[in-house]
Amino acid sequence: MIYDVAIIGAGVSGAATAWQLSRYELKTILLEKAADVGFGVSKANSGIVHGGFHHPVSSLKARLEIRGNLMFEKLHHELGFPFKRCGILVAAFSEEEMSQVRKLYNQGIANGVTNLEMCSHERMLALEPKLNSEVVGGFYCPGGGTVEPYRYVFSLVEFAVRNGTELLCNWHLTKGEYLGDHWRLTAADGGIVEARYVVNAAGLFADEVSRSCGGEEFRIHPRKGEEYLLDRSSKGCPSHVIFPVPTKHSKGVLVIPTSEGTTMIGPTADPVDDKLDTETTSAHLRRILDQVRSMVNGISHRDLITSFAGLRPVLDTEDFYIAPSQKAPAFIQVAGIQSPGLTASPAIGEYVKDLLKGEGLRLMEKLHIEYELSPRHEARHETIENLDKLHDEDPAWTHIICRCEKISEAEIVEAVRKGHTTVDGVKFYTRAGMGRCQGGFCSAKILKIISRESGIPMQELTKRGGSSRILYGTLGDLEVRL
Ligand SMILES: Cc1cc2nc3c(=O)[nH]c(=O)nc-3n(C[C@H](O)[C@H](O)[C@H](O)COP(=O)(O)OP(=O)(O)OC[C@H]3O[C@@H](n4cnc5c(N)ncnc54)[C@H](O)[C@@H]3O)c2cc1C
Repeated sequence: MIYDVAIIGAGVSGAATAWQLSRYELKTILLEKAADVGFGVSKANSGIVHGGFHHPVSSLKARLEIRGNLMFEKLHHELGFPFKRCGILVAAFSEEEMSQVRKLYNQGIANGVTNLEMCSHERMLALEPKLNSEVVGGFYCPGGGTVEPYRYVFSLVEFAVRNGTELLCNWHLTKGEYLGDHWRLTAADGGIVEARYVVNAAGLFADEVSRSCGGEEFRIHPRKGEEYLLDRSSKGCPSHVIFPVPTKHSKGVLVIPTSEGTTMIGPTADPVDDKLDTETTSAHLRRILDQVRSMVNGISHRDLITSFAGLRPVLDTEDFYIAPSQKAPAFIQVAGIQSPGLTASPAIGEYVKDLLKGEGLRLMEKLHIEYELSPRHEARHETIENLDKLHDEDPAWTHIICRCEKISEAEIVEAVRKGHTTVDGVKFYTRAGMGRCQGGFCSAKILKIISRESGIPMQELTKRGGSSRILYGTLGDLEVRL
């Protein structure tokens, strides 16, 4: 079987490409080296749908950011992932910062962003009473928002798979050869996939994938961003995303009201050598706390529940590199997808689809397509009446496993049945284990449910695939009462 298109990497770029291509009469396969989709950079970011004012429109990333931002509403309604257009405020704390804010505002206007508003001290505080009252002024971008990034990737992939795309996880591309009219792709375990076109959406490893397929030589430089998550009871949760004035390499340290009601502070922006270095440090936490407390009141270190780091895949040009390869035939490069890659992703999918068409891929729209994913029930969002009805169908709906986030057994079962069989996969699909106790009370129960539903023995279950096993020795025979 020769596929029409093989996409390497199931982060937002690969998933959005699969989502776009699944509308056409094509045989498409999505190949991912991790145990689940979205486990690369796409799971470890700030979750912001940016407003389109940070970069000049001469850059590809700005053009795709602006288009991507506008596509989120419709996608959210069709696919059902959490998304809020909560708006962005850029806050200035001196006259010097105010002049930079004016430049950003003018750039946004030049980029065609609508409804931007320059704000006085009074207007900023009226919009966001939690801002430090020393704010001099700033600007307001109502079009910015937040999205739950992992749910977003899961939804794109679910849509693509429902509409005929094949997905192979634990499939690590090591070599690609062009055989004159199609590609022969080889995985680390010897698996072979053949396809007429290849899309390299391998994030931090796009340089290695390009090299292993005879494509361009370029280097991805990882730029680390540490993020710190605060409990949903934090008094420092604003109702808009709060930005400082940006620096040369980053948009600065932000206060983010996540789409699920928690508060996130970060990220840092530090170049690192190791593409697997996701360590966070107390020194950086202190630096972030100092910076965000100077912008927003009520942020306490006591509200901190966890931390993580993501690595931005950065090219020397600082722009996205999305183009047909000049060296490898029928090969599209999707590299350097640093921020605002999440925002731009729906437009990246569309752009890659058009590039493939330009390279000769025939696109014929399918007659029948499932445009919407069925809405998901979530115990924490149901009315008592609905929950009663759900309980009558299946008592697992009122059996709460994760007490912090109020996640029922039925939701965990649904995640496993949809193929999420690692602890992180279940966590990202349901939020079980994401609350104050970070899985302290529910992890054993979750393991038991995953094992029961998937048939994988408890001892073989992993946090995120590979060697990340959780239970060892006699603990592997743990008796857990649900
Ligand atoms: C700290 C931080 C904060 C950010 N905040 C924002 C934000 O608020 N808003 C925004 O718009 N953007 C943000 N970004 C940027 C955004 O997260 C990225 O641009 C986006 O996630 C990149 O997605 P991707 O699909 O290109 O890469 P990835 O998500 O990394 O996906 C690539 C996939 O390819 C797989 N892969 C790699 N090599 C192989 C191989 N050989 N074979 C098979 N599979 C392979 C990987 O396992 C991975 O799953 C942020 C980034 C960071 C690090």
